[in-house]
Amino acid sequence: MIFIFGVNDGKVKETQTNHTEYCSRCGNTARWMVSKKPVNASLFFIPVFPVNMKYRYYCPVCRDGRKISKEKYEKLVE
Ligand SMILES: [Zn+2]
Repeated sequence: MIFIFGVNDGKVKETQTNHTEYCSRCGNTARWMVSKKPVNASLFFIPVFPVNMKYRYYCPVCRDGRKISKEKYEKLVE
């Protein structure tokens, strides 16, 4: 019996925040987005359970941004 384990990225959930930021990359001022992406452990390429979550805060125009913590994410989506 052979088990194939792996990790893969789950579905991204994007939310627009009420926070307006200036983006130094594209020069636009807009309401920035946050995204939440699960990293799933998989068995035979089927996701079994999430092992990690990745949070980002980024510009909706050029999508440049930064990684944020879970606490920061929750504050931004309030
Ligand atoms: Zn930008």
